[in-house]
Amino acid sequence: MGLFDKLFGGGADQAIAQAPKYTHVKIHPQVDNGIPPESANFGGGTLKCHCTTDPVVVEISGQTAHNHVCGCTKCWKPKGATFSQIAVTARSNVNVTENGDKLAIVDPGAAIQRHACTGCGTHMVGRIENEGHPFHGLDFVHTELSASTGWAAPTFAAFVSSIIESGVEPDRMGEIRGRLNELGLTPYDCLSPPLMDLIAAHTAKQAA
Ligand SMILES: [Zn+2]
Ligand SMILES: [Zn+2]
Repeated sequence: MGLFDKLFGGGADQAIAQAPKYTHVKIHPQVDNGIPPESANFGGGTLKCHCTTDPVVVEISGQTAHNHVCGCTKCWKPKGATFSQIAVTARSNVNVTENGDKLAIVDPGAAIQRHACTGCGTHMVGRIENEGHPFHGLDFVHTELSASTGWAAPTFAAFVSSIIESGVEPDRMGEIRGRLNELGLTPYDCLSPPLMDLIAAHTAKQAA
């Protein structure tokens, strides 16, 4: 076997080893059938809640970052999904342009104040008002609420073990982590290493 074959496969054994095993495991509608690619120089788009009349409209004037699927119990997810999908963007990129009067904060005591539509329950923007918080200045958004393609693709799975708190049987965790790995969404039981490092660096700076 030549070097090219070694690098790019072609052997039957390899093909079997690489065939996805966990396609029956559903994670989130945005990733279950393959992750759409993000576009370079993507300029943003419009998020709309699920109300059929007078939807809340939020304009995002830029690309998002750190997009991921999240297993926590706080993030909004579409009906039937095991994970949510959530990304951040600069707070200055976010503008509520229509029906903002329908928004209410889900839990004013939470670090991330999730502004949800009182009509359909969809979370439109999560905002941090505490200036000492490591993610202050970043808003959390669900880009699946946009009809545009080209948004930052999800790259990891956060708070995976927390889906058990939402009722997932613990013995399903093996196949769920297996599926996440197949999709290239490395599963973590906290945030991704770059985000955990960012939080720790912020804490160290505040303690100095
Ligand atoms: Zn709504
Ligand atoms: Zn979450």
